[in-house]
Amino acid sequence: MKKIRPYILAETNWQHLKDETIEVAILPWGATEAHNYHLPYATDVFESDYIASESAKIAWEKGAKAIVLPAIPFGVNTGQSDIYLDININPSTQFAILNDIITVLNRQGIKKLMVINSHGGNDFKPLLRELGLKFPEMFLCFTNWFQMPNKMEFFDEKGDHADEMETSIMMYLRPDLVLETSFWGEGKEKKNKISAFTEGWAWTERKWSEVTEDTGIGNPKLASKEKGERFFKEVTTKIGQLIYDLSKADVSDLYAYK
Ligand SMILES: [Zn+2]
Repeated sequence: MKKIRPYILAETNWQHLKDETIEVAILPWGATEAHNYHLPYATDVFESDYIASESAKIAWEKGAKAIVLPAIPFGVNTGQSDIYLDININPSTQFAILNDIITVLNRQGIKKLMVINSHGGNDFKPLLRELGLKFPEMFLCFTNWFQMPNKMEFFDEKGDHADEMETSIMMYLRPDLVLETSFWGEGKEKKNKISAFTEGWAWTERKWSEVTEDTGIGNPKLASKEKGERFFKEVTTKIGQLIYDLSKADVSDLYAYK
């Protein structure tokens, strides 16, 4: 039996697409980097891909015409240049990739694009601002799903890399790729000695290898598959609704007084 999901571009075919009209393209974007000792290098890619696919499924089943493009596996890892096999692509490369993809969508009349981003080093705001100016007919947006405002209702320990949240999600999505707990580092983070940076009102890139020993930030020890499943469902329900809303939206009439 065939199991072709019509909203996944990598799986569907010309037979199905030749007479189809897609409203929204979804682009999952990850990174290839060490995730503490115990999670796979492609953690961010799996996350963005699974979240995009499940969200698109929810939207598709409500009647949205959405399609998930193949995930981009590399992200901005400029701060991890000395961590073995962390693969950096620069923001200017991301701009070039987006520019080419948007050129195709714009030419073919698919005027809405959403990036589903899994990686903190990827900063899509300046890129989408510039591309929005260049392609005025395109509606461009992104979500950093890992910053869902109610995230801490699902987890106990705060963190931002290979932490309790990411470990839980991977235990749910790909338990076959998560090492046993005896391998989990504590994800201890050294803070910048200059207080302005830790207070958050000034920013400088963290030199990752000086900030954490195991490459993690945030202790994964309270992670569980159940927490991962609950948060995954929360995120995909919300993004599924967003994809549906986008697919139905008249982007020339988006604003109203509330
Ligand atoms: Zn990650």
